[in-house]
Amino acid sequence: MENPKQRITACIVSFLILFAACGWLQSCSASRPAGIAVTHVTVLDATGAPPRPDSTVVITGTRISAVGPSSSVLIPSRAKVFDGAGKFLIPGLADMHVHLTGAGEPAGSREFFFPLLIANGITTVRDMGGKVEFLRALRMEIESGERLGPQIFFTGPYLDGEPPSFQPAIIVPSATETHQAVSQLKSQGVDFIKVQSRLSREAYFGIANECRTQGMRFVGHVPDTLSAAEASAAGQASIEHLTGVLLATSSREEELRREQLAPGPPKETINAARERSRRWQRRLLDSASTQKTETLLREFLTNQTWQVLTFPLLVHLGYLTPQTDLTDDPRSRFLSSNLKQIWEQGRKESLDGNSAPDFSLREEILKRSLEIVGRMNAAGVPIMAGTDAAAPNVLPGFSLHEDLAYLVQAGLTPLQALQAATAKPAEFLGKSAEVGTIETDKRADLLLLDANPLEDIRNTEKIRSVVLNGRWLERSDLDWLLANAEHFAASH
Ligand SMILES: [Zn+2]
Repeated sequence: MENPKQRITACIVSFLILFAACGWLQSCSASRPAGIAVTHVTVLDATGAPPRPDSTVVITGTRISAVGPSSSVLIPSRAKVFDGAGKFLIPGLADMHVHLTGAGEPAGSREFFFPLLIANGITTVRDMGGKVEFLRALRMEIESGERLGPQIFFTGPYLDGEPPSFQPAIIVPSATETHQAVSQLKSQGVDFIKVQSRLSREAYFGIANECRTQGMRFVGHVPDTLSAAEASAAGQASIEHLTGVLLATSSREEELRREQLAPGPPKETINAARERSRRWQRRLLDSASTQKTETLLREFLTNQTWQVLTFPLLVHLGYLTPQTDLTDDPRSRFLSSNLKQIWEQGRKESLDGNSAPDFSLREEILKRSLEIVGRMNAAGVPIMAGTDAAAPNVLPGFSLHEDLAYLVQAGLTPLQALQAATAKPAEFLGKSAEVGTIETDKRADLLLLDANPLEDIRNTEKIRSVVLNGRWLERSDLDWLLANAEHFAASH
């Protein structure tokens, strides 16, 4: 048994540890050393240069201040030194499709989303739909150092038709309303305008014009009324989830779109509607045209239409099968009861009433999607990593590593997949001078890995440390973040 004195000492010690951890993780500048040096590490800088073994990287404040051979880089006196021998240093990762505020505000983004992102090495996100005031508050808390979180770029609410697919949305029924909608979002400081599936052609082209006039870029879904080729030609900067892409590679594109938009026959039963949809998908797959695919990819390349596939969403929700359902995944311990319910509802809607033929069709569509992405990559179409977290079955942070694995399965080299989450997003965001690669003067967003991701892309999950805007987070700190997220989930 411990005596009272030991107990008091233990209390003081644990209080001090807790205090130190909280203070260190939550407030920004107090305890940062004079510099950090990672020595004898293999640097995979994501510029496309070959790996550089036995390198030293020095971090001063929030920046990388030196990168070079360990034999020649000067380590500042009083710098904290980490031995990186046998380890690999890569740039921090970007998830280019998330919905930070979709996990229950105000606590969901802060207590659930951010810890999972940071523990998984995601240091930049593009939020693809949420309320501006929430997102601005989150960004401010991170920038002021009050909270640990990724660098955030965001679109704010969706521009959509009536009824909107998701909330928050601004309804844009026709071209008349586009000026007001785009001006309003621009004045609120959004980084991009997000277009959604139910926009009319007139509204969509109005938005495209307005964005051109106001110097904004627009991103999102290809609306149901349009071809992906038309969206590309209209200047859409990124297409998400392959919306409209498979259809645009079909030799029967127009006919299939007309059928998709037409209302079903009156009094159609659910089973009949399912059968109709199955036939439609079958014809979509059977009418794939090599020539149309090539033309479309040329168009994407010429217009620099970036692609964010969000494979975790496609696999675990869009084309969900009982095999890809994550209900029993041990990581569901990070879900609050509220979120569990939302996810369960999403899975039910996707699985219920479907049977083996539906699921095998879904598997075929996924296979075809992977093939198209392989061709896109071979054609030089720019690709970025993204997940759509926290949509049902898409867990923040963890899912980004899965997306990278799917990109490799589609045909990207591990280096290209790594760049799709580092150098490429920086290029897309116009921030190449700031982030995305390991080079002098760039923001110190880094991941120290225990194994080489160029040998197996899954090694991006073997995270030893994360450097977030100059702050060094040890494995124990990352585990502490995960434990906190788990604790939050259990109590909400
Ligand atoms: Zn989304």
